[in-house]
Amino acid sequence: MTWIEAADRTLVPAYGRTPVKFIRGDGVWLYDHEGLEYLDCLTGLAVVAVGHANPRVAKAAGAQLSELVHVSNLFYNQPMVDLAARLTRLSGLDRVFFANCGATANETAIKLARRHAQKRYGNKRYEVVSLLDSFHGRTLATLAATGQPAKQQTFHPLPPGFRQVAQGDINALEDAVDGRTAAILLETTQGEGGVVPLSASYLQAAREICDRKGVLMIVDDVQAGMGRTGHLFSWQGLGFKPDIATVAKAMANGLAMGACLAREKVANAFGPGDHGTTFGGGPVPCSAALAVLDEIEERDLLGNCQERSRQLAEGLSSVDGVVGVRGRGLLLAAILEGDWAAAVTGRALEMGLVVNNVRPNAVRFAPPLTISAAETAEAISRFAAALSDSISAEN
Ligand SMILES: *Cc1c(COP(=O)(O)O)cnc(C)c1O
Repeated sequence: MTWIEAADRTLVPAYGRTPVKFIRGDGVWLYDHEGLEYLDCLTGLAVVAVGHANPRVAKAAGAQLSELVHVSNLFYNQPMVDLAARLTRLSGLDRVFFANCGATANETAIKLARRHAQKRYGNKRYEVVSLLDSFHGRTLATLAATGQPAKQQTFHPLPPGFRQVAQGDINALEDAVDGRTAAILLETTQGEGGVVPLSASYLQAAREICDRKGVLMIVDDVQAGMGRTGHLFSWQGLGFKPDIATVAKAMANGLAMGACLAREKVANAFGPGDHGTTFGGGPVPCSAALAVLDEIEERDLLGNCQERSRQLAEGLSSVDGVVGVRGRGLLLAAILEGDWAAAVTGRALEMGLVVNNVRPNAVRFAPPLTISAAETAEAISRFAAALSDSISAEN
């Protein structure tokens, strides 16, 4: 029996995994068990933002691992205190609740919005309005908020209190936000939905609707946050500020971690006993997250993100078979002339480039924010070769 057969016999078959086993990473590079080398332009779905085996993160998390790993939220720990101060200062939001991943950060946001609405308006406002083609997680409540009927349909009944409207249609949002609404929830760039950026004018209009109707605005920055768009938080380049925001993926460069940030008045809707987590805010992921922020600041990774974004978008645009590039910062998708994304992604992997077919005609790029100009050029040329091969195989 091969290791793949053994694995597929014992893992719950919830994923169609690619038969590659990675054993080591270094910056933008990954190495598999056969010693093959790959340029990683996916980073485990926008997670490993400061590069694989980042020395500063390894040192910080490693030192913490030998010092103190867990005490629970019944007590304080220094990395948590430091990270809370840092994130609130950088986001302009006042308080933070540490969760364990994107879904648990969003669960926190949804519960906080409901609690806030209940205190302010009584029991009549509890609904969360989100967008079609959004992605907010796989727990039952975050799945109910996720605007993808295909992912929802086999799990009914889902928790009530969620509805979706088409993204980009401000009138639909205006109509959906009514006397039952506690909050709207949206991504500034829909990651899983195909790397679709919502316009600044739409987002600002959504903010205005929330203000006028006394409804909270929640930004799910789980994928687009922590520097991915060239701003530490994605809304910072878009002319508005949410009441609640969630981050996760890149926070601790691969250690499981999430956070829900909120304005003072909103955050204070929670009192002792209203919400909790055993692991959230643990000293090890918090130390790693502090090291990630140090890397972003000291190496000007937001600046690098913006420069490499321009280079990658221009390079991909001029590849034969690519009809457009969309997204923000280093969360980009190459839009193909045909539905070749699965074939190209497979061929790219054989050529040592990790990308992802986020749509039948769209390939997602989310490289480390540390990627150099030369590595970006290499990624473009490997992608061009993979696409050319896939088009030839098609004809
Ligand atoms: C990945 C993702 C989530 C879910 O995060 P998990 O850590 O997988 O629970 C939620 N929202 C967005 C926008 C995401 O991209």
